[in-house]
Amino acid sequence: TTTTTPSHVVLVPLMAQGHIIPMLDMARLLAERGVLVTFITTPVNASRIKPIIVRVHESNLPINFIELPFPCAEAGLPLGCENLDLVPSKDLQLNFLQAIQLLALPFEQRLKNLVPRPTCMINDMWNPWAANVARSLNIRRLVFHGPSCAFIYCSYVFQLHKIYETVTDEFEEITVPGLTDVFGQSFKVCRTHAPGWSNAPGFEKLREKVLQGEETADGVVMNTFDDVEPMFVEAYKVVVGKDVWTVGPLCLYDKVDDLSARIVRGNKTAVDQEKLLCWLDSMEENSVLYVSFGSLTQMNVGQILEIGSGLEASEFPFIWVIKDVEKCPKVEKWLEGFEKRMSLRSFVIKGWAPQTVILSHKSVGGFVSHCGWNSTLEALSNGVPMIAWPQFADQFLNGRLVVELLRIGIAIGVKKPVFYYDEDEIRVRRDDVERAVRSLMGDGEEAEERRIRAREIKEKAIKAMEEGGSSYENITKLVEYIKHY
Ligand code: UDP
Repeated sequence: TTTTTPSHVVLVPLMAQGHIIPMLDMARLLAERGVLVTFITTPVNASRIKPIIVRVHESNLPINFIELPFPCAEAGLPLGCENLDLVPSKDLQLNFLQAIQLLALPFEQRLKNLVPRPTCMINDMWNPWAANVARSLNIRRLVFHGPSCAFIYCSYVFQLHKIYETVTDEFEEITVPGLTDVFGQSFKVCRTHAPGWSNAPGFEKLREKVLQGEETADGVVMNTFDDVEPMFVEAYKVVVGKDVWTVGPLCLYDKVDDLSARIVRGNKTAVDQEKLLCWLDSMEENSVLYVSFGSLTQMNVGQILEIGSGLEASEFPFIWVIKDVEKCPKVEKWLEGFEKRMSLRSFVIKGWAPQTVILSHKSVGGFVSHCGWNSTLEALSNGVPMIAWPQFADQFLNGRLVVELLRIGIAIGVKKPVFYYDEDEIRVRRDDVERAVRSLMGDGEEAEERRIRAREIKEKAIKAMEEGGSSYENITKLVEYIKHY
C-alpha cells in the first residue's frame, strides 16, 4: 500500500464567538471527511472551547489547534482581551480589529513549519491579512462568510455602505437590485439598517481590505443553505464568478437526540444543564420563550428592566439570558425580587447559555433574538419563530429576511442601530415587549401560520445537511476541491 499525505487546510476564524463557533463546526465536518485541519486560536479562546478540543482529541479527529499569542499590549488592549466580546468599550473595538492584523507575522511563521505543509486556507472575511500569508506560501485561499448571503450580497455586490452618500432620508426604502424574483418577492433596505460598522470612523480602511480579501479569494464558503435565501444565493453566485459553497446551517453538525450529551458551543455554560433540561421537560410543548441577544449586545439597566417587565406582563414562561450581571449591582438587586416573583415560570441565565440545547427542546416555542446570523440559523434549524430585535451590523438585514421573506417573525426595535446602549436610552418599552410576546406565543391564526412556516424551514434546513442535500453535497465538493489542490 502507498501512503498519501493528507490534504491539510488551515482555518482562520475572527476571534469572536459568532465567528469561532461556526468555523469550529466546519473544522469538525471537514476532519470527519478526511481532511487534516489546523485551527488557529489564542490562549483565552482555546480555554473557552476546551470541552470541544477534548472531544476532538477523544474522537481522534485530525484537528490540530494552534494558539497564537494575542498582541493585547501592542494594540493597547487590556491583558486577556482576546475575543471581541471581551472588549471593554466601543472605543477599543478598532484596536481589537487592529490587534488581529498583527497576528499575520507569527501566523506565517507557524504555518511555514507545519508538516505536512498546508495546501489550502479558509479565512474569515474579517481576517483579510491572511491573503498575504496564503500568497507567500503559494496555497489556495477560500474566504469564509459567517453572515447571511443577504448581507454579503448587499455589502459586496450592492455596496450597501454607499447608501450613506446617495440617500439622505434615514428610512427611505431602496429596493436591492439584481435579485432574481423567485417568489414574487423583493428586498428593501434603508440607510438606517445599513450595517453600522462600514461607516464608523476608522473602519473604511479595514472595509476596503475586507472587500479586497473577498475579491482575491479563490472561492467562497458560506454558512447558509440555498432554500433559506435562494434569491440572494443565486444572485451572488452569478456576480461573484468563482466557486461558492453554501454549507450550512453548520449548527446542525452537532445535532444529537440526547440533549444532555450536547457539548456547549463557544464558552462554559453558566447554568446546570441537567437542571435546565429538567425544568424544560416540565413545561408544555411550544410554551417557553427564549430571550437572548448573542455575545456582543450590551444593554443598559433601564432597557434590561423594561424587557423583564414586559416578560412578566406577558404571562408566558421564559428563559432569559443576561450577560455581565455581576458588573451591574442595580440589575443584580432588581433580579432578586423578579426571580422570586417569576419563580414558577422563569429561568434566568446569568452568563453563557447552552443556546442550541435550549432551542432544540420541544418546550421552546419562541425566540426573542438580536438576529445574529448564527442565532437566526439556530432558530430556523429548530423551527422556532422569532421576535426579531436587531441591534447592529448584519442583524437588520437578517431580521428583514426572517420577518418579511420567511414570515416567521415579528419585528421590534428597528428604529435605530445600536452597538452599545447609551446610559439611559430605552429602545423598546415593556408594553411593546409584552404585545410582541403575546402575539408570537399566543394561539391566534397568524401565530399558528408562523409556526407552520417555521417547521417547514426546519425540515428544509435538516434536509440540506443530510446526505443528498444541497449543503451536504457542497461540503463534498469543497472537500474534493481541497484534496485536488
Ligand atoms: N451563544 C451561546 N450562548 C450564549 C450566547 C450566544 O451559545 O449565551 C452562541 C449562539 O448559539 C450563537 C453564537 O453564540 O452560536 C452567537 O452568534 P450570533 O451570530 O447569533 O451573534 P453575535 O454574538 O455574533 O452577535
